[in-house]
Amino acid sequence: MTDWGEAMSGSEGRFPKSLIEFQRRFATESECAEYLFERRWPHGFVCPGCGDGRAWLLKIKAFTYECAACGRQTSVTAGTIMHASKLPLTTWFWAAFLMATHSNGISALQLQSQLGLGSYRTAWMLCAKLRRAMVDPEREPLSGVVEADETIIPFRTKNDPVVVPAGRSGVGKMLVAGAVEVDGGSPRRARLKVIEGFGKGEIHAFVLAVVAPNTRLVTDDWPSYNDIPDIKHKAITVGPMAAHIVLPWTHRLFSNLKRWGLGVYHGLRKTNLQHYLDEFVFRFNRRRTRHAAFITLLGIGARTAPAPYHMLIRKSA
Ligand SMILES: [Zn+2]
Repeated sequence: MTDWGEAMSGSEGRFPKSLIEFQRRFATESECAEYLFERRWPHGFVCPGCGDGRAWLLKIKAFTYECAACGRQTSVTAGTIMHASKLPLTTWFWAAFLMATHSNGISALQLQSQLGLGSYRTAWMLCAKLRRAMVDPEREPLSGVVEADETIIPFRTKNDPVVVPAGRSGVGKMLVAGAVEVDGGSPRRARLKVIEGFGKGEIHAFVLAVVAPNTRLVTDDWPSYNDIPDIKHKAITVGPMAAHIVLPWTHRLFSNLKRWGLGVYHGLRKTNLQHYLDEFVFRFNRRRTRHAAFITLLGIGARTAPAPYHMLIRKSA
């Protein structure tokens, strides 16, 4: 997605820009812990139990402080996705950095080899936990001018490659609705959602879930977009070849999504599809703020609760 453009601003400028810089800054467990401490307590330790500022660093538990007033023990990783993990902090930091900075993201298999992880299961867990942090439950709806469109994406099952003649068994099709907020001719944030059909019910539910009231919605002339309550709708009649002119950003979003799915995952799978869409949107929305992406992924100061293994496993549908 390099063609979307890059920019740096604010704290982004101080964040390591290269692998070498990152490696120097976060080479050891204590350097990672120090970074977590500074993010958590920028003005010095504060006990989450009683608010006291005096604490001892425990010798027997890694990076854990004991409050001098109430005795409560608090780890620098408490409340983050790293908490109670047996993996070193450096591994978490590297995984989040690679996932946040690779413009195409990284698969569990790539992560396993890049970080020299012992098992694929560990790499998969790491990826799954980082991905879970990608949706902010309190994110703001899109507003202003928003393009919306829908597309069909082939998916693969088992180990069949996705690039096969049409009609072959093992390859199905899934429907995806997309929306892009457009500001002064440039794309800002996007949303993607798996939908069951292109009917009015599905389309209305998607639009109402992702855009704010009074949004100016631009679509093609597909009738399912008509009559959405509290939405200012502009439908543009297009020929079959002109969608990329009328809806340039949703068109590019969809084509980048398809390219990404083939390139990184060799074809998306139906299982957990929404999670892959969330990952794509997460990276797209933070394409200019990799530092924010890194912080969000590690759940530093975020509300993401630790995810036990059984919650990450989804039955295939
Ligand atoms: Zn205390």
